[in-house]
Amino acid sequence: MTLKGKVALVTGSTSGIGLGIARELAKAGASIMLNGFGDAATIEAVKKEIAGLSGAKVGFSGADLSRPAEIETLIDETRKQLGSTDILVNNAGIQHTALIEDFPTDRWDAVIAINLSAVFHCTRLVLKDMKAKNWGRIINIASAHGLVASVQKVAYVAAKHGVVGMTKVTALETAETGITCNAICPGWVLTPLVQKQIDALAEREKLSPEAAKMRLLGEKQPSKEFVTPEQLGGLAVFLCSPAAAQIRGQAMPVDGGWTVQ
Ligand code: NAD
Repeated sequence: MTLKGKVALVTGSTSGIGLGIARELAKAGASIMLNGFGDAATIEAVKKEIAGLSGAKVGFSGADLSRPAEIETLIDETRKQLGSTDILVNNAGIQHTALIEDFPTDRWDAVIAINLSAVFHCTRLVLKDMKAKNWGRIINIASAHGLVASVQKVAYVAAKHGVVGMTKVTALETAETGITCNAICPGWVLTPLVQKQIDALAEREKLSPEAAKMRLLGEKQPSKEFVTPEQLGGLAVFLCSPAAAQIRGQAMPVDGGWTVQ
């Protein structure tokens, strides 16, 4: 299967899951628009690496997805640098953990803006071009926390449940077109976002880094193995294939058994 000629915008793709998905889409032949934060040298290295995977074109925008005006610029920049977006992967996300009564209101606003509102803005801004081509793939990176809850993650769980709901609406509004929208719901993936939680657990419980990792996995993920960005990228590539054309509005767990317990 080739995605040659398709333009994929992957938000939050300078690190972690987004980078893994960008790599797999590039290997399948898509041009890639990268987005996210990071120092200039790291971003240059990522651009070079992705371009080397299949020779596809690579663009970059450092748009801050907590700002709707910058999201408009991101979509315009993608069009200018590579062409209109055929595949949108809404991946950028942040986490903050605290009990509800202690949850800082600015962290609530930031999590909702980046993990939920940015998905709405990116989606609304690409649909016109996708409808004109009668082809598109919108892949929302939700979470196991889009399906079940955990303590101390009120903003994240609310945002991810919202993403799962938005995925269904987007799928229904595009049901008679060649555009599909689905959500991927990962369990634990060892990325900087999760490493912070492992470090906090190690410090709180006086555990070694390895013991903290096993504790984190053991609490939620029956396989006791991390999901990898490559596995999530593989599913994203499949969702772009003709075989997936009638998968619409689904929230697909890739979570080592987390949500079947
Ligand atoms: P990460 O911290 O490794 O990467 C996050 C990416 O988003 C980075 O590229 C960062 O620069 C970018 N980003 C952050 N804030 C941004 C902003 N305001 N504007 C633009 N880009 C921004 O995290 P990750 O673990 O790879 O998470 C990626 C997605 O996967 C998130 O939506 C997260 O909720 C979801 N997820 C992660 C896990 C996990 O275990 N790691 C599990 C389920 C879901």
